[in-house]
Amino acid sequence: MGLHRVRGKIDPLDDVFSMPLSERVLPKRRVPDGESDPRSAFEAVRAELRLDGESAQNLATFCTTYSSAEVRELMALCLDKNMIDKDEYPQTAEIEARCVRMLADLWNCAADDTVGCSTTGSSEAAMLGGLALKWRWRKARRAAGRPADRPNLVCGPVQVCWEKFCRYFDVEMRQIPLEKGATGLRPHQLADHVDENTIGVVAILGVTYTCDYEPVAEIAAELDRLQARTGLDVPIHVDAASGGFVAPFLQPNLVWDFRVNRVASINASGHKYGMAPLGVGWAVWASAEMLPEELVFDVSYLGGDMPTFALNFSRPGGEIIAQYYTLLRLGREGYRKIAQANADTARYLAERIKAMGPFELLYDGQGALPAVSYKLREGARFSLYDLSEQLRTRGWQVPSYPLPPDRDDTTIQRVLVRHGVGKDEISLLADDMERALRRIPDGGTGAPRRPGFHH
Ligand SMILES: *Cc1c(COP(=O)(O)O)cnc(C)c1O
Repeated sequence: MGLHRVRGKIDPLDDVFSMPLSERVLPKRRVPDGESDPRSAFEAVRAELRLDGESAQNLATFCTTYSSAEVRELMALCLDKNMIDKDEYPQTAEIEARCVRMLADLWNCAADDTVGCSTTGSSEAAMLGGLALKWRWRKARRAAGRPADRPNLVCGPVQVCWEKFCRYFDVEMRQIPLEKGATGLRPHQLADHVDENTIGVVAILGVTYTCDYEPVAEIAAELDRLQARTGLDVPIHVDAASGGFVAPFLQPNLVWDFRVNRVASINASGHKYGMAPLGVGWAVWASAEMLPEELVFDVSYLGGDMPTFALNFSRPGGEIIAQYYTLLRLGREGYRKIAQANADTARYLAERIKAMGPFELLYDGQGALPAVSYKLREGARFSLYDLSEQLRTRGWQVPSYPLPPDRDDTTIQRVLVRHGVGKDEISLLADDMERALRRIPDGGTGAPRRPGFHH
């Protein structure tokens, strides 16, 4: 039966829940023929949204789940701003350029011809970073009269966006197996995998599996030695999706960024520890020379031309504005204080988890991202999937998932502490974990071994 509204039949005095739409099962396959009252349509959609999890209780995500009233207001103000239209919204374009300069500066870029752009997130930024590596490698190979048809990218346990990059853009992904006890790529592993067809090495600041940083400076030093031996000059792209907005504040002395000469480009997610709302990432190159000009398109801008490098065309400008607001509002001191509070909470959780007994910490929240990762000790009487299921009954999303393919016999859990996730909330989570441990019978509850969504 359609939802056709008979004209004149709606009484404006009707309660929302006695309006025609509210008295029906909502259409799911066919656009309804008639219109509905906006309030009843709104309530119907809102009711469905309640079935989603509570984002603040999703401890698997790195992404922003807390936004201030000011951010919400700016987002509403920018609802109609299309960031690609530099001509119509020159000030949004200017604000985007300011963010790029601020991030290049935050990541210690000394060049004054740094280039960069906003993206929809780190995934798009990774595609752009990877494409720039591929183009530069190919140009150099052709100039040297060498074949340029078998590019490869060398990396450790990367986020899925790098697998996508390699598949979509025809690059062989050389993923180095995770060594036993390691939380990421170890520099001595590189020599066996890098060759003349390597377009670059990806180093991760905040490995998605374990939340630890890969040692960028040591990776660069190893590549320096390789160059001295073989003449191969292999650039590094740092995927600092989360760490790009953590390390400068929590570990200012850690050298991972443009201070390392070999670092050609860096990406970060504004919508993770950058604390902007969902939908913004950043890519920055050490200098204009690192970004091949063939990849850059000109769009008209105030009568002139504005270079753009992006996979998308139309995209909302609000997230960029909110990113600028957040940088302005918090400043370095504000980011540092929040990062420190998160790290303190992560340390507290690590201590609670350690004291519970059955867990072995893989990463205790100190030295890298404010997060904790752990696995079950040998001979545990239940599985982490059982624990995930128990926690889910209280709304907590703490998924279990296997380590990368070569270590996938090990299942781990990971809890991210981020803006808006306070110490009290984490103490309640720990209480619920203890309660769950008492409740899970020997042999477990047989929860399906379905890896949860992780980023
Ligand atoms: C989250 C993440 C990505 C993907 O970033 P999005 O902003 O979600 O597209 C890539 N790499 C790492 C290391 C990440 O943590």
